[in-house]
Amino acid sequence: MTEKVVVHICCGVCAIKTVEFLQNDFEIIGYWYNPNIHPYEEYRKRLQTAGYVFQRLGKDIVWNLDYNIDDWFALTLPFARDRKQRCKNCYFLRLEKTAQFAKNRNIRIFTTTMFYSIHQDIEEIKKTGEDIARKYGIEFLPLDLRQHYYAGKEIAKNWHLYRQRYCGCLFSEIEREGVK
Ligand code: SF4
Repeated sequence: MTEKVVVHICCGVCAIKTVEFLQNDFEIIGYWYNPNIHPYEEYRKRLQTAGYVFQRLGKDIVWNLDYNIDDWFALTLPFARDRKQRCKNCYFLRLEKTAQFAKNRNIRIFTTTMFYSIHQDIEEIKKTGEDIARKYGIEFLPLDLRQHYYAGKEIAKNWHLYRQRYCGCLFSEIEREGVK
């Protein structure tokens, strides 16, 4: 029997190549939980896109629609202008929820589509995921899919997917615009 993996889905675009990479070795269960996406209109666009991608790929996804931005801000606001620490706490919130879901379902392995993005801190994601895995007695699967970034983007373009212009939070939006 193929082993299951819970894959935290940060967005539909990042899911395409991640699913392609994992699907021969695992039974994939997507898990959506992203209170880091602001404003809410942007959150809805990415949610709909992820839904479309999963339908098209014929894979299951579980929707955690908690939009607890208060928890997210409590963890990240003290580090608003310290991107490294802010992102680390943001990774922690989302990956811990994913690990809790996996543990409750007796699924031994979890990972995230964030490993696809050239804009993320891959080493920090790996470290955060492994710390969480130890806490819950499960395994975190580290990946590095950055070499597929542009091919994935091309597919997203061909599928006419909504493609975001910033990572997710309001801080990342103003950083992208160069606002100090
Ligand atoms: S830039 Fe992205 S990973 Fe970092 S805190 Fe904002 S949403 Fe989270």
